Amino acid sequence: MVPRDQVMDKVVALTKRRGFIYPSSEIYGGLSGFYDYGPYGVSVKRAIRDLWWRHMVELRDDVVGLESTLIMPTAVWEASGHLTNFVDPLRQCLGDCKKRWRADQVFGEKCPECGGPLDDARMFNLMFRTYVGALEDRASEVYLRPETAQGMFVDFKNVINSTRLRVPFGIAQQGRGFRNEITPGNFVFRVREFDLMEMEYFVRPREDESSFHYWRNERMRWYTDVLGINASRLRFYDHPKVSLSHYSKQTTDIEYEFPFGWGELEGIADRTDYDLAVHQERSKQDLTYLDPETNERYLPWVIEPAVSVERIFITLLLDAYDEDVVNNEPRVLLRLHPKTGGHIGRRYRRQDEIGTPFCVTVDFDTLNDRAVTIRYRDSTEQERSLITELRARLDNLTST
Ligand code: ATP
Repeated sequence: MVPRDQVMDKVVALTKRRGFIYPSSEIYGGLSGFYDYGPYGVSVKRAIRDLWWRHMVELRDDVVGLESTLIMPTAVWEASGHLTNFVDPLRQCLGDCKKRWRADQVFGEKCPECGGPLDDARMFNLMFRTYVGALEDRASEVYLRPETAQGMFVDFKNVINSTRLRVPFGIAQQGRGFRNEITPGNFVFRVREFDLMEMEYFVRPREDESSFHYWRNERMRWYTDVLGINASRLRFYDHPKVSLSHYSKQTTDIEYEFPFGWGELEGIADRTDYDLAVHQERSKQDLTYLDPETNERYLPWVIEPAVSVERIFITLLLDAYDEDVVNNEPRVLLRLHPKTGGHIGRRYRRQDEIGTPFCVTVDFDTLNDRAVTIRYRDSTEQERSLITELRARLDNLTST
């Protein structure tokens, strides 16, 4: 067993050594809170995204996908409350180091780094601002999204008008989010640019309780049963009212026991009809839904599970990191669940480059169905073949 207080350093070293994660723009000294993903890192990230999508969208008939833009108009963030409320209290060191701190993370009046005095707390908005078009003035200001959720709300009407979905249903999205965190850190646990995976599940008004509990349990089950994360290092944390986000009636975090303490892996929030209501008011568009079963018009309430790929990534690596000794040689290993292993597709690519015409893959299904996958270099098509019929099939393919 690797001592828990050493695991983070070892994982950071491993990710660099083996090409999972590099500091962004490292040859220029890096940029705090930004990371790049190397060859193996990309494979793991893709596997995480694919598994989430498979379980949240593809295996369900009540959830559809959406991709909205990373840049959205100021009006969206004014209406959603992010311009006013998506803020953290900031305190700056007036002593030697001049470091900035999140006020809720320093205790006392002294700078944790150099012991210098701290200024009074002021509010700092975490959204990155930029401009659209040639003029850099107030009218052309826009924001990079700090969450994907607003895309689901502003496109809500489009989705219900163009599909046959009926409440309850969900809209899921994966994509970049940006937060100008005051204190990024703990490796990729808290970064400034990250991949979010969010799902807004729309239910009838005030029918939020059962859905909230369903999604809490469903998401916990995904971590233990699908990703194979050690259940004893996972727990629920119910937020007290004072620490709720401005849009939330109740929020439960799924926490993981990181080497630096328990921390939020995923949040499940009960957003009520807050977002649809504020967008309806601000945009002057009717965002109500006509329920064909009750003939009532209403704004649905929303339950939202939200997590970043980065937090799952670091959790998986910390949970899987191990060292042992084989034949008197020390060995480092990642005991990753088979589902999150490297993508086989990458190995096919290497075979393509050296000209292998067909690849035969034995996978976990083979144990049950006694069949393998044959994959063709030129078309990249794949087919399944019983092992007993494989020789004849390959003879046939190579003789034509
Ligand atoms: P905190 O209070 O720790 O800043 P938050 O409660 O504002 O976080 P949420 O808005 O609930 O975070 O974010 C939803 C999910 O997005 C989190 O559960 C986490 O998985 C992920 N996430 C949020 N901020 C970051 C970040 N800076 N880096 C990586 N992942 C993040």
